[in-house]
Amino acid sequence: MADLPSDCIFCGIIEGKISAKVVYQDEKVMAFEDIKPIAPVHILIVPRKHIPDLTKTTAEDVDVLGHIQWVAAEIARQQGIAERGFKLVNNCRADGGQVIYHLHYHLIGGKLLKYIV
Ligand code: 5GP
Ligand code: ZN
Repeated sequence: MADLPSDCIFCGIIEGKISAKVVYQDEKVMAFEDIKPIAPVHILIVPRKHIPDLTKTTAEDVDVLGHIQWVAAEIARQQGIAERGFKLVNNCRADGGQVIYHLHYHLIGGKLLKYIV
């Protein structure tokens, strides 16, 4: 899978080379609608830094990892799903079902979601 940022779809979105429906951005992260939503709200939250997956994070990334949690809550409030709730999911590597190897979190809501764990 894509390890180099030049091959990475999400880096392409961050750099503005690939279009996406951006719902939130700041100096650390971008959030945009998933191209194939599985629920009324399905947003991907990605660090601007190309980190292939959660296992490749270092102590330097703790700040952005924590920030993503707050951004998820902020977007949930903006999208009107904070009251009923949502799932925030990271698919990590092969057994986790990860397809795009740029770290991302799925913010999914707007309907009752199946219990996974
Ligand atoms: P993963 O399985 O890696 O956790 O999830 C990758 C997600 O990226 C999938 O839900 C897929 O629909 C989404 N995706 C793939 N290509 C694109 C794209 O070009 N634009 C957007 N917005 N989402 C994409
Ligand atoms: Zn990337």
